[in-house]
This record gives sequence, structure tokens and C-alpha cells, in this order.
Amino acid sequence: MLVTLEEILKDAEQKKYGVGLFNMLNLEMARGIIDAAEEERSPIILGVAEVHLPVIPFDYACHIMNKIAKEATVPVCLHFDHGTNYKKILTAMKGGFTSVMYDGSALPYEENIANTKEISKIAHALGVSVEAELGHVGGAEGGADDGHEAMYTNVDQVNDFIRRADIDALAVAIGTAHGQYKVKPKLDIGRLKEIYDIAAKPLVLHGGSGLSDDDFRNTIKNGIRKVNICTEMCMAAHRAYTFAFNENTNFEIALQVAKKSVQEIVREKMILFGSSGKA
Ligand SMILES: [Zn+2]
Repeated sequence: MLVTLEEILKDAEQKKYGVGLFNMLNLEMARGIIDAAEEERSPIILGVAEVHLPVIPFDYACHIMNKIAKEATVPVCLHFDHGTNYKKILTAMKGGFTSVMYDGSALPYEENIANTKEISKIAHALGVSVEAELGHVGGAEGGADDGHEAMYTNVDQVNDFIRRADIDALAVAIGTAHGQYKVKPKLDIGRLKEIYDIAAKPLVLHGGSGLSDDDFRNTIKNGIRKVNICTEMCMAAHRAYTFAFNENTNFEIALQVAKKSVQEIVREKMILFGSSGKA
């Protein structure tokens, strides 16, 4: 069944567990993700990221995701990840998504608020949830200043941002990075705890791929309710395709192996985050 991000995170907050956002780039990934959710009886946030739209055309993604959500026997939120383009974010809302992220994290504070607020006004009128990012979760592949403390979420701004931007979930920057880590990330759990203690809305962790199981347990214990996973699934699918092709199997088998490998990663995460059995 199709639900909003607000509904999914409300239950997660009440019962103190985390829900994964799993981004899909193709049909094998989408099927692996939803089959894992059904198997684990877990609520799920199924996403597509703006940056991946050149790989999976938006209208195709909308059709696939809506069909999955409607047929699912577990709660499914359809989420548009890291939207920066006004038109594309509105296309997601029009296309049946129940949650959008507006990412103005690279912008100055007031500009981030103003832009997010504009999205929230439309989204809420349509019954769509909004996530935004305060501080900046950089890329693991990026420059030397990535993960620099100046880009961490400022605790003093948290509720001012939530209130004025009128959002339903807040992505925080506490030392994680997007993509594949080159050095082990150092998480600022103290800062997360401080944010969770005061934040008026549920918290989101980006850059989860490559964190240890203990890191995930620790962040969820200290208030993270939505965990974004993408790179780890992409790597698993990539390995599966490569392996199947190297073994000289046929294309159909390669696709099946990729789907299964994504499904396994997603299942592991659902068990780890505590969302298994919550649907
Ligand atoms: Zn992200």
C-alpha cells in the first residue's frame, strides 16, 4: 500500500527503529528491493534520485514504482531523492510520489529555507511529505574539505530550519559522505544525540553505504529514523553482473543474480535497522 514518509516515520519514531530508503536504478534493483520488503514484512521507502534520471527515464520509474507500491502488502513510500530541480520535483509529485527531498544543502542558509518552503507549500497541499538537508553531506570521492566540520549540521539552527522550511524530515550532516568511502568515516554521535533531543521532526542519515553495523545501530539508537542506501546495492548488483558475465553464463542469469544480490543487501539492512516485522 502507498503511504507518505510522514506516516512511515511516525511509526518508526514511536517504536524506535530505522527505515531504509533504497534507491532503484533499474528493474532488477526495484524487484530485489520490494521482494526483500515482502519477505521481511518491513515498511519501505522506495526511491529514485534526480541524479539517476539519465539512467532511468522518469516516466518509466514512476510507472514501475507506482505499480510496486499499489501491489505491495507492506507500506511503501515513493520518494524522490536529492531533488534540486523545481520542475523535476513537481513532476515527482504529479507522478504519484508521496515524498520528495529538496536538497538546498549547498546553498546559503536563508536560501535553503526559502526554496524548501516553496516546495513544502505545494507538497503539503497535495499530501506529499518533504525532506530537506541542513549542513552538507558531501561526496566521499570529493575534495579534501569533504566531511569538514564546518559543513556539519548546526544544532542551533535545527528547529528554526524545520519550522520555517515546514518540513517533515531532516537530513543531518554528522560525518557521513555519499558514495564509496576511501577512509573510515568518523561519526559525530554526540552531535546527533544533541539534535535528536531537540528536533521537532524525524532525522535522516545520508551516505550510509560503507558504515559498519555498529555505526548503523548507534545512529538509529541516537535518533536516525530514515537511512539512505544506494551505493552498496549498486556495488552488489555490479559485482553480480560482472561475476555472471565472467562465468560465461547467459544474460538472463546475470539479471537474476543481480536481483538476488540486491535483495540480500536490503534484507540485511532491514534486519539491522529493526524495520523487519514492523509492517
Ligand atoms: Zn544523500
